[in-house]
Amino acid sequence: MVGLNPRPYPMKIHEYQAKEILENYGVRVQSGVVAESPEQAAAAFEQLGMPLAVVKAQIHAGGRGKGGGVKLVRSAAEAAEEAGAMLGMMLKTPQTGPEGQKVRKVFVAEGLDLAQEFYLGIALDRRLGQPVMMVSAEGGVEIEEVAASNPEAILRLPLDPRQGLLPYQARRAAFFLGLQGGTFKKALSFLQGLSRAYLELDCSLAEINPLVITEDGEVVALDAKINFDGSALYRHPKVAAMRDVHEEDPKEVEASKFDLNYIALEGNIGCMVNGAGLAMATMDTIQLHGGSPANFLDVGGGAEEENITEAFRILISDPNVKGILVNIFGGIMRCDVIARGVIAAARNVELKIPLVVRLEGTNVKEGRQLLAESGLAISPATSLDEAARMVCEAVHALA
Ligand code: GDP
Ligand code: MN
Repeated sequence: MVGLNPRPYPMKIHEYQAKEILENYGVRVQSGVVAESPEQAAAAFEQLGMPLAVVKAQIHAGGRGKGGGVKLVRSAAEAAEEAGAMLGMMLKTPQTGPEGQKVRKVFVAEGLDLAQEFYLGIALDRRLGQPVMMVSAEGGVEIEEVAASNPEAILRLPLDPRQGLLPYQARRAAFFLGLQGGTFKKALSFLQGLSRAYLELDCSLAEINPLVITEDGEVVALDAKINFDGSALYRHPKVAAMRDVHEEDPKEVEASKFDLNYIALEGNIGCMVNGAGLAMATMDTIQLHGGSPANFLDVGGGAEEENITEAFRILISDPNVKGILVNIFGGIMRCDVIARGVIAAARNVELKIPLVVRLEGTNVKEGRQLLAESGLAISPATSLDEAARMVCEAVHALA
């Protein structure tokens, strides 16, 4: 089942879904209604029944405000107009690719009067091996920017993975933001709620940017971004069901169905490798020879001919791929199985780009023989260095 497979990368969800989750943890959010048409957006405005609302594009990328994906509206007609302009558009933000991401849904949210905007986030700190809560008075600004320009402006609180945010830590965070009275108390339960959600749901990131204090002293999540540890999704079927494959690279979605770990990159050399370590080394060696990998594709330790064929099909379907490097170490995996998969796939797709194959390990002789006798234009290589040089030269010669 798609979504429940362990994935080496995090799963993202939309803002409206993140807010739904946080509400269940007692975290006050800027509430709203999802709309998929201008008519629905107008109805949503009426339903909220407030003089001011915000139409917000739902894509898996932040910085929407900067790209025109967040608009304040004061009537149902205005809500319909802004939703109409956003729905279907390719929204470009500093966090999307240059072509942008297609808007399929908008969130029509209650308009709030903001007194203060803060940053609040929890992320895994790999150096500490612990989740860390980060609080900063500079709301609406990317935390990476604050960390670079003004690191003292961020309070960092390492969280115990079993206990979560301790009461004294919550108080420190609220003091750090200069909160007082009722707002201070509301902030404490807000912070605890976010910490509980993060730990219970195996999140890898939970970011509220901005966390706002409204004119009447409420503590509200104006925005919410949650990523989940892909390997823990099987424990959270409700979260897994929130996956929106429209937001993911279609090649990555296809790959996940075949237990392939595939991540699209910017370059033009398609790589098919087994094992994450070998994949990294292969990408490094390609770069060393002046090339640039188009993807990270790990077919895993136990791939069958079918997975190899599928992996190949995915590589070829990317028009940016101008050459392919297959680099497999046959341990559990046998080189002859790999060779059969590569041959079957290359025949199927009528390969028109250079293909370099380097096999090593179990049944390597049989594997190389199969490739040599296949009649296909496959360049065999014996070392990783040679293989990377060959594919870089072949792609360079085409350009
Ligand atoms: P992002 O640009 O993708 O991070 O989207 P956000 O949800 O963070 O919204 C961007 C900005 O829009 C916020 O930082 C606010 O300044 C503004 N904004 C969003 N909702 C409201 C609202 O209800 N009232 C006001 N005054 N501003 C809002
Ligand atoms: Mn934001």
